[in-house]
Amino acid sequence: MSPIRPENRSRYPKDWKTISLRIRTDRAAGRCECLGECGRGTHAGRCPNVNGGAAYGTGSKVVLTVAHLDHTPEHCDDSNLRAMCNGCHLAYDADHHRQTAAATRRARFEAAGQLALDSREAQR
Ligand SMILES: [Zn+2]
Ligand SMILES: [Zn+2]
Repeated sequence: MSPIRPENRSRYPKDWKTISLRIRTDRAAGRCECLGECGRGTHAGRCPNVNGGAAYGTGSKVVLTVAHLDHTPEHCDDSNLRAMCNGCHLAYDADHHRQTAAATRRARFEAAGQLALDSREAQR
C-alpha cells in the first residue's frame, strides 16, 4: 500500500513490513504523524487523518504509509521514519522530487553555460 517504487524495493530492509507496522500502529496509533513536513499547508499542527478513515478535504479513504524523512530507504531509524497518510506522503515526496529535479536542471544549466564559455575560449 505504500508508494515504494520498484527500483527502490531492494533498498528496504527485510523486516520493513514489521518496522512499518510498528511505526504506524504502536507509535502513531493509526494517525498521520505529519506536522507540516508535507508542505501542503492544509493542516495546522499534526495531520488529523486516521488510517481507514475519511481524509479531510477530499473524504477519500486514508491509507497510512511510512515515509523516510531523508528519502533514503536504508535509513530505518525511528527518528527518520514518519507515519504519513497517502496525501501527506505523496506531497512530501513530490516536494523532494521537485527539489531534486531543480538541482539537476540547475547543474545542467551551469554545465551548459560552462561549455559555452569553454567553446568561446577555444575559438579565440
Ligand atoms: Zn497526513
Ligand atoms: Zn502533512
